[in-house]
Amino acid sequence: MSTQVVVVGAGYAGAGTVKAFEDAIEPDEAELTWVSEHDYHLVLHEAHRVIRKPEVESKVAIPVEEIKSDDTEFVRGRVTEVDADERVVRTRAGDEIDYDYLLLAVGSATAFFGIDGLREHALTLKTLDDAREIHQAVKTAGEEATTTDPAKVIVGGAGLSGIQSAGEIAEFRDDHKAPIDVEIVEGLDSVFPNNDPEVQGAIRKRLDGKEIGVSTGEFISKVDEHAVYLGGAETEYYGEDGEGDAPAPEDIDFSDDLVMEYDVLLWTGGITGHDEVDDFGVDADDRSGRVYAESTFETSADGVFAIGDTALVEQDDDEVAPPTAQAAWQAADVAGENLARAVRGAPLKSWRHEDKGTLISIGEEVVAHDVQAPGFKIPVNTFGGPAAKALKKGVASRWIADVTSLGRAVNAWGDM
Ligand SMILES: Cc1cc2nc3c(=O)[nH]c(=O)nc-3n(C[C@H](O)[C@H](O)[C@H](O)COP(=O)(O)OP(=O)(O)OC[C@H]3O[C@@H](n4cnc5c(N)ncnc54)[C@H](O)[C@@H]3O)c2cc1C
Repeated sequence: MSTQVVVVGAGYAGAGTVKAFEDAIEPDEAELTWVSEHDYHLVLHEAHRVIRKPEVESKVAIPVEEIKSDDTEFVRGRVTEVDADERVVRTRAGDEIDYDYLLLAVGSATAFFGIDGLREHALTLKTLDDAREIHQAVKTAGEEATTTDPAKVIVGGAGLSGIQSAGEIAEFRDDHKAPIDVEIVEGLDSVFPNNDPEVQGAIRKRLDGKEIGVSTGEFISKVDEHAVYLGGAETEYYGEDGEGDAPAPEDIDFSDDLVMEYDVLLWTGGITGHDEVDDFGVDADDRSGRVYAESTFETSADGVFAIGDTALVEQDDDEVAPPTAQAAWQAADVAGENLARAVRGAPLKSWRHEDKGTLISIGEEVVAHDVQAPGFKIPVNTFGGPAAKALKKGVASRWIADVTSLGRAVNAWGDM
């Protein structure tokens, strides 16, 4: 029997690795099985577009059949366990798939940081179903509201997904003249935290221009079915002694800055490993639930590799690669080659993430920061306008062309 290689996950990391491995290996050297929960690759970094226009899903959900070669077998299923001693992957449906080499690329889950009530009441954005659900919730809230009593949509977290989702919700509001207030709540001191003040300022300007409210500097400490409580608000509201002193909900003064009533709450405030990672037989970080991986993507288990959001991939300087689409697709190129090298018993390559800059949409607008365009140096560090928009469209379309066809990329261009 030839060497068995298994790739789990159909995100950037999984789809990119499958393509790179297929390019690097001859069919008689190894058999590749690709396992993922859904039978399509989701272009997750543009999934927020579905909130505004559900029809965009045909552009961002690409059937795996269009990506893989005929020699690669696809198994649809959610992997719940890896037996690293027996070298077998098990799915929820009971499939068992043997491997000699395994790549884990299952992405990440939303982190709730133990915030009281958040998991129960917030929507999240990680899948196509999530995007559809957010669209429906925003639409319904708008239909049930009036101009004198607009619906309130709160987006928790002002990272890439929070800012871009808020932008799409605001575009939906404007396209449909829906009575909706949109507000981003970020616990740190600025939008797009821990980044250059120049790009933070450029994003803030576009959020203001799009009439998206921004609250920074107070963390969400509690959520219930009516409201989000910031900082110490829940203590103030529920009383120092707890429930006994709590006023009735109708007595809540929701005008208080620290208690924000909502109709729709979307939480994008952080990522963590999937629960199943505990049963993957590899060492993972206790706090983040993400798998430790060397710069070759090797994990603590023999023959098991991990990349993308799933992994904390070591870099030279005690840092780990960032959890971004950009990092996942760069890593996938090398991971595919390393799987082929492992099959041949050749030395593995080390990978180092190269930051190619940031492109972030706020609805129809885009902010570009520190972007390297192929072949020339862009003289301005942070900019918007048609050039930034074209670059963002170009990045998404290029990825789609790389994993499928130019025709599909051209078709997606208008909606990216
Ligand atoms: C709204 C939004 C906007 C973003 N914008 C940007 C951006 O502008 N730029 C950027 O660089 N990054 C952006 N990101 C982050 C980026 O999308 C992620 O870093 C990237 O998707 C990680 O790729 P991945 O392949 O590791 O995981 P994913 O893309 O999440 O793929 C994981 C895959 O594994 C499958 N899977 C999960 N669990 C299992 C299991 N147990 N068994 C089998 N299959 C499983 C999933 O179905 C999926 O196919 C954004 C993210 C979001 C949510």
